[in-house]
Amino acid sequence: MVLSDLGRRINAAVSNLNREPNLDEKAFDAMIKEICSALLSADVNVRLVKTLRKSIQSTVNFKDLPPQTSSNSKKRLIQQAVFDHLVQLVDPHAEPYKPKKGRPNVIMFVGLQGAGKTTSCTKLARYYAQRGFKACLVCADTFRAGAYDQLKQNATKAKIPYYGSLTQTDPAVVAAEGVARFKKEKFEIIIVDTSGRHRQEADLFAEMVQVQKAIKPDQTIMVLDGTIGQAAEAQSSAFKQAADFGAIIITKTDGGAAGGGAISAVAATHTPIIFLGTGEHMMDLERFAPKPFISKLLGYGDMSGLIEHIQSITKESAGMKETQKHLAEGIFTLRDMKEQITNIMKMGPLSRVAGMIPGLGSMMQGKSPLFQL
Ligand code: GDP
Repeated sequence: MVLSDLGRRINAAVSNLNREPNLDEKAFDAMIKEICSALLSADVNVRLVKTLRKSIQSTVNFKDLPPQTSSNSKKRLIQQAVFDHLVQLVDPHAEPYKPKKGRPNVIMFVGLQGAGKTTSCTKLARYYAQRGFKACLVCADTFRAGAYDQLKQNATKAKIPYYGSLTQTDPAVVAAEGVARFKKEKFEIIIVDTSGRHRQEADLFAEMVQVQKAIKPDQTIMVLDGTIGQAAEAQSSAFKQAADFGAIIITKTDGGAAGGGAISAVAATHTPIIFLGTGEHMMDLERFAPKPFISKLLGYGDMSGLIEHIQSITKESAGMKETQKHLAEGIFTLRDMKEQITNIMKMGPLSRVAGMIPGLGSMMQGKSPLFQL
């Protein structure tokens, strides 16, 4: 079951209420039961699901509702309660570090091997470069053969400057050299990729602490494979004890519904989740915020995310200013048309864009958006 299926199941449970002519406690209980069962199938922790169930039940207390409350008002109340409590379930209630322009922001990545660190480093560098930051990458993974080559390839594809060494074996030295060089060259986002291991090994943690001491990062980000579901909590706690980190990126949320389990498990530890990896491509990185995430999950879009996405793409495009000037003058050249088409192509798969437009995501999946607030 993928994450969108989880949203579809919850949405269907709530939408079923629309078919109830006399909405009573029995129908309400059946809806909650189905939502809880969907969340449990997505590997959300039983304790969290129980809390959610109790909170929704206490918000919508049938006994306290005035007898004249219409079926429609009850439905709205229930839908709002479900939405609010799902948001609570994935809300870490913590603010992450925000990189500032005009100064170097050193960001260090940590995580297990295969979690998606190197891929996410490049995605993040590209994300900031698109938003006008001078971004670069440093490869401090001297443990895995081929790590530097992988980063080099990714960085070249994304047109991001990089630094690494084929001869230096001390990761702290490579990291410090790379950071010093890019600071001198006035880079604003300096992302340092460190090595992972197959398991949480003592020497990995010792190395992380050494690199952290050598470069004194403004932010340390842990990359976590979302397919591990609620095991994410234990993994992030183990990393936190060794080398404190300020934020988390959960990858592979496109792979399975367990991403929902990982997100809620991490949120429960009050660690800010800043991005979700949603695929293997460079563009498959989505900013994480609880409300837009639940909104999209339930199929009624994320307009603020869409606006931000479009602005980032048009900002990146050099020819956009000229096209805007032409349009104001009533001119539309072949070059302008090419510019427009290139920008549309950069937006990524149509399904992703559609998911941000209220109602369109569910229409593309062959159903109407019944769950509306
Ligand atoms: P590292 O060992 O932590 O540096 O992991 P890599 O960056 O090399 O990634 C391991 C694998 O996971 C690669 O095949 C990536 O393409 C893949 N990967 C990374 N992020 C995502 C994601 O968000 N979704 C999917 N489907 N695959 C991902």
